[in-house]
Amino acid sequence: MSIAQNLQAIEAELRPNPCQLIAVSKTKPVEAVSEAYEAGHRDFGENKVQELVGKEEVLPKDIRWHMIGHLQRNKVKYIAPFVHLIHGIDTKKLLIEVNKQGQKNDRVIQCLLQIHIAQESTKFGFDQQEVQAFLDSETFAGLTNVKVCGLMGMATLTDDQDQIKQEFRSLKALYDQIDAHYDAPNIEMKTLSMGMSGDYKLALEEGSTMIRVGTAIFGARNYPTQNQ
Ligand SMILES: *Cc1c(COP(=O)(O)O)cnc(C)c1O
Repeated sequence: MSIAQNLQAIEAELRPNPCQLIAVSKTKPVEAVSEAYEAGHRDFGENKVQELVGKEEVLPKDIRWHMIGHLQRNKVKYIAPFVHLIHGIDTKKLLIEVNKQGQKNDRVIQCLLQIHIAQESTKFGFDQQEVQAFLDSETFAGLTNVKVCGLMGMATLTDDQDQIKQEFRSLKALYDQIDAHYDAPNIEMKTLSMGMSGDYKLALEEGSTMIRVGTAIFGARNYPTQNQ
């Protein structure tokens, strides 16, 4: 199947749900992104700043770029002028830096807080308690050039469907709780980013509003998949 056909097939699966598809183009050439763009797709995800910036420079300006990977603070400045949504805010310091770069660029940058839901200790993210304390803090209240639009999480890489379901369910519960209890100008809960090629069907069942899919659209990547 072609990239366009893959996109169409996944979009068809999503249709009854209010869920958005982010095409994860990391490691794939500009031509692959163009093919998806020609098919009408506009939301793309990358996990490396250098690759994201390189593609943004040469591809059409109406693409919405999503930074989905671990983001180092010293690299925020390169994507701050144009990034549509940063999915991987995993520390207070990172959000403070994004706010600073938002100020410099005279824009409010949309962010998702990454929550640690997997069993693996290697996955980045806030703990559930930690995130609520942060949202309650004065530091957070002062961040006027970011908007927290929701949460992002990655489930454990396992064949155990029940475990994945439970992890997604706990993320959705936290999302609902924040949505119900926090009413600040820089919080607007509207996005629950969970689900990848291997688990997006489960994520949909558990209330995902945004899935990040690479392999099922563009085919396998040519490198070992750990830490991706
Ligand atoms: C690579 C990546 C994806 C997409 O993974 P696939 O299994 O290829 O769909 C989704 N989210 C993040 C954070 C990633 O790094």
